[in-house]
Amino acid sequence: MTHNKTPCPKCSGKMEEGFIYDQFDAIRLVSKWVEGAPEKSIWTGVKIKGRKTIETQTFRCDKCGFLESYAK
Ligand SMILES: [Zn+2]
Repeated sequence: MTHNKTPCPKCSGKMEEGFIYDQFDAIRLVSKWVEGAPEKSIWTGVKIKGRKTIETQTFRCDKCGFLESYAK
């Protein structure tokens, strides 16, 4: 288990590495950061065509549960 070197900004607890996932039926995917405000689409839920997307990494504080995400 990887820990972020920076402690929790709320309580100084340890930040554990993880990720947030989305599930569509049996398929699980890592949540991604998308540039710009969300625009709804009748066909796909939200429009992301032509936008920059980056997989996210989320750290969770093992003391208070605070979540901190990075899109590197
Ligand atoms: Zn904390």
